[in-house]
Amino acid sequence: IPVDPFDLVIFGGTGDLARRKILPGLFRRFCAGQMPEGAQIIGAARTEMDDAGFRDMVAEAIREFGGGRSCEDGTLDEFLKLIGYQVVDAKGEDGWKELKARLNDGLIRAFYFSVGPSLFGDLAERLRHFGLADDDSRVVVEKPFGHDLKTARALNATLAQHFDETQIYRIDHYLGKETVQNLMAVRFGNVLFEPLWNAQYVDHIQITVAETVGVGGRGGYYDKSGAMRDMVQNHLMQLLCLIAMEPPARFEPDAVRDEKLKVIRALDPVLPHHIVRGQYDGHGVEPSYREDAGDPRSTTESFIALKCHVSNWRWAGTPFYLRTGKKLRARASEIAVVFKDAPHSIFGADAGRHRNILTIRLQPNEGMELGVTIKEPGPGGMRLVDVPLDMSFADALGPDSEEVPDAYERLIMDVIRGNQTLFMRGDEVEAAWAWTDPIIEGWQNRGEAPKPYDVGSSGPDDSLMLMHRDGRKWRDIR
Ligand code: NAD
Repeated sequence: IPVDPFDLVIFGGTGDLARRKILPGLFRRFCAGQMPEGAQIIGAARTEMDDAGFRDMVAEAIREFGGGRSCEDGTLDEFLKLIGYQVVDAKGEDGWKELKARLNDGLIRAFYFSVGPSLFGDLAERLRHFGLADDDSRVVVEKPFGHDLKTARALNATLAQHFDETQIYRIDHYLGKETVQNLMAVRFGNVLFEPLWNAQYVDHIQITVAETVGVGGRGGYYDKSGAMRDMVQNHLMQLLCLIAMEPPARFEPDAVRDEKLKVIRALDPVLPHHIVRGQYDGHGVEPSYREDAGDPRSTTESFIALKCHVSNWRWAGTPFYLRTGKKLRARASEIAVVFKDAPHSIFGADAGRHRNILTIRLQPNEGMELGVTIKEPGPGGMRLVDVPLDMSFADALGPDSEEVPDAYERLIMDVIRGNQTLFMRGDEVEAAWAWTDPIIEGWQNRGEAPKPYDVGSSGPDDSLMLMHRDGRKWRDIR
């Protein structure tokens, strides 16, 4: 279904994110027939360039990062007709009047801030000052949203001077992933799971976001943040919220975000011995973190594993284990809900005991799998075995269906539709920082250095111990 006609201005339109994600995503929505006649996409950045030059850049980006979406001849040319470019200085006066003149009256206006957060305030102020934005316009802001609670509050306050909260779309692209939304469909669209979705039946939950890449090209930036700020405070916490939250009364922005906020506020402080920080070490064969970061003494973590508790009626006593890291054995993101053992085995100890595990795979191969226990086929008596009920989206939807949309595609279209459900609200972000800050301060005060781990491993041994001590085990990263 096409959205209403819109003007979308991408500040930082010549940047890495715009070329790799935003523009190819918009092109795929165009191919899917979702882009209405009259839509306009304007790149705006400091780089001197004209419309034709920017269109060439967009075409190149789509060829390189289009994700193999087959588009018949001529479609790209049609898409490029929607594209324009305006040189603008976020910190000065140049280009703003010209940019305004390009916008159409009466259309939805969205302004994507694909620039560093230090420019958010300048852009917001000029959008108002030069009359480009009104009370219906939308602004989209990228991560990182702050470096800690103080800076996040300051960013929220700056944006709030110019825009209402209902106009601000804070992107966490994990929320745009198809499986993440499916998690809500599975929880709240079936009767099977929700009665079991609590401490009585769930032994523990594991959330893993494992990457094979290092910090390579962006080591300087990453070294100032680390895995806790770059991944846990936003992406992993958002996933935790969706797993742990109470059913909202409606699938509406504030109903969903209110419930997520309650989860963050119910998180206990994390005990120091429930956190393991790590840093990858290539032993001279591959680059180590410190080489990638360009600081031989860096104590920033490229891996983190932690155990936390959501202290409320539903989850009392059920631990949530979170881990994420770079240069690990495989690229795998998943949430595993590990249910408790059946209370009594009628088949005796020899039959073996098995647990139901619901796995939600975010990447690669988005899908879900439910491990169920059945009888091992054959004449060997009553022995039990686990088999997966597997639903990979690619298989379930069939080869003719449209491919699973990328998170950015979905989220940008939600901006145009004016749907904030999958975007973070200001108070959510602040609550997440309020939980994260003392953890970071704790290890800074204790002067703790991260533990080294081998490139291509599953993280430091201490992270295995974190589970082992509790009689549990991380799922293999495959
Ligand atoms: P980038 O450095 O590649 O691009 C920055 C863009 O901002 C360029 O187009 C540049 O011309 C423009 N710009 C800089 N100063 C300007 C000014 N004064 N006036 C007008 N334009 C100006 O950065 P990026 O990697 O595209 O990242 C953009 C934002 O997105 C950052 O906040 C980053 O943290 C965030 N982000 C990036 C990625 C990614 O994969 N690249 C992922 C998540 C979030």
